[in-house]
Amino acid sequence: MNIYNLTLEELENYFLSINEKKYRASQVFEWLYKKRVTSFDEMTNLSNSLIEKLKQDFSFYVPSIVARENDRDVSKFLFKLSDGEHIESVVMYHDYGISLCISSQVGCNMGCRFCESGRRKKVRNLEPYEMLLQIIEIEKQINKRISHIVVMGIGEPFDNYDNLVKFIANANNPKGLEIGSRHITVSTCGIVPKIYEFSKLPGGVNLAISLHSAFDDKRSKLMPINKAYPLKDVMVAVKDYIKATNRRVTFEYILLENVNDSKEDALALCSLIKGLNAYVNLIPYNESSALEFKRPKNDKIMNFYDIIKKEGIAVTIRREFGSEISAACGQLRSKKEE
Ligand code: SAH
Repeated sequence: MNIYNLTLEELENYFLSINEKKYRASQVFEWLYKKRVTSFDEMTNLSNSLIEKLKQDFSFYVPSIVARENDRDVSKFLFKLSDGEHIESVVMYHDYGISLCISSQVGCNMGCRFCESGRRKKVRNLEPYEMLLQIIEIEKQINKRISHIVVMGIGEPFDNYDNLVKFIANANNPKGLEIGSRHITVSTCGIVPKIYEFSKLPGGVNLAISLHSAFDDKRSKLMPINKAYPLKDVMVAVKDYIKATNRRVTFEYILLENVNDSKEDALALCSLIKGLNAYVNLIPYNESSALEFKRPKNDKIMNFYDIIKKEGIAVTIRREFGSEISAACGQLRSKKEE
């Protein structure tokens, strides 16, 4: 078990179980998350015998950064995991801070037709330490604090729910990475039972729903998950989330030329979400050589935007990060495999 996999509470229980004081957990957390040591030996306020015990019971394995690509306001990092698998994370520099887009799985089983990442089936879930260390290792590289986390990289976070929740606990804990729950966003294709669970997390963690169509038949073609959890069920769960957290939900909507970019599509989207505490993030599709979808022309994108705006719904068009370095959405990691 990697030491970063444990929440503070789990570590406290561990110390109690070996007849140590509970506060040892806070001391270890301080070394891990504040002082950022790289071995148990550096934890100098613990006795040598306790350090030896920790070494026996836990690993301190840290995934290594094996490549980095930079564009003007984004950097992409490639990590090698203990089993030789690779994952990617993307740093984006905004005027309000620095956000990191992290991966939650190796591969993905959701099979969204337009998504490059999903071309490779899920190999395994990432453990909490593999998500946490994406942040810690990149902060070391860029020598700056990451203020916002988006779980929007490779994988479906709600298909790795228990590890995701532990990750969020340690990212959010004031004794951990101390990133406010309002600065953490999890994006899902719409795994309904997990939306209900997510609503109950302390502090209200931001939720983004990958919508991409307000018509069930169309959405089912684009996103097979819609057959298991159709729009009606997703929307009831989203309303529950808003009620429970009082947070605004983001609906992500990729614009695909002649697929979901018509006036009817825009109006259906408006009637689906009108009156909700929500906003729409339009994502001009990042084209991939392997998939047939196209990005609509700019005037089509603007028309779609205008229709939503006119309906009084908050809407933005996502700034296109990283298209020069294949760090664009859905394109993570694929370059490496080709
Ligand atoms: N599985 C989660 C998180 C990963 S995908 C989810 O579905 O939300 C993150 C976002 O990028 C999703 O909205 C996804 O639909 C979108 N995306 C995938 N491929 C894309 C592409 N080629 N261009 C633009 N956005 C893409």
